[in-house]
Amino acid sequence: MSYLDAVVRPDTFTAILRGLRRSCPQCGRGRLFKPGWRNVLKLADACAHCGEQFEGIRADDAPPYFTILVVGHIVVPLMLVAEQHDMSTPTAIAVFAPLTLGLTALLLPTLKGAIAALMWALGMRNSTPTPEA
Ligand SMILES: [Zn+2]
Repeated sequence: MSYLDAVVRPDTFTAILRGLRRSCPQCGRGRLFKPGWRNVLKLADACAHCGEQFEGIRADDAPPYFTILVVGHIVVPLMLVAEQHDMSTPTAIAVFAPLTLGLTALLLPTLKGAIAALMWALGMRNSTPTPEA
């Protein structure tokens, strides 16, 4: 950690971009999430690089809401086009189920990182401890 990492606080836009990369909004180098695929949606307690604390940042339902919003606006029009071209039901399931799951798996942690970074930048923290689930 350099002296500048500890002193200079990034602007909100930079923090959100770092959150989109699932990196620490303060330094952009450490992880925002705990390591391991089982913890893909769990925020780390603190940045391993700069020590910034992430306790009390709870995005709650915002990441799933925005993920559904984005995935729905991608998948539903494609399904309507497929319906107009008489795509068979098994083919539609074979195409759209993996597409929907893949986009969700990609976007949910990404958007959670961005929202957690936005909350960090705005100082939105819950004073009660985060429940372990
Ligand atoms: Zn950091």
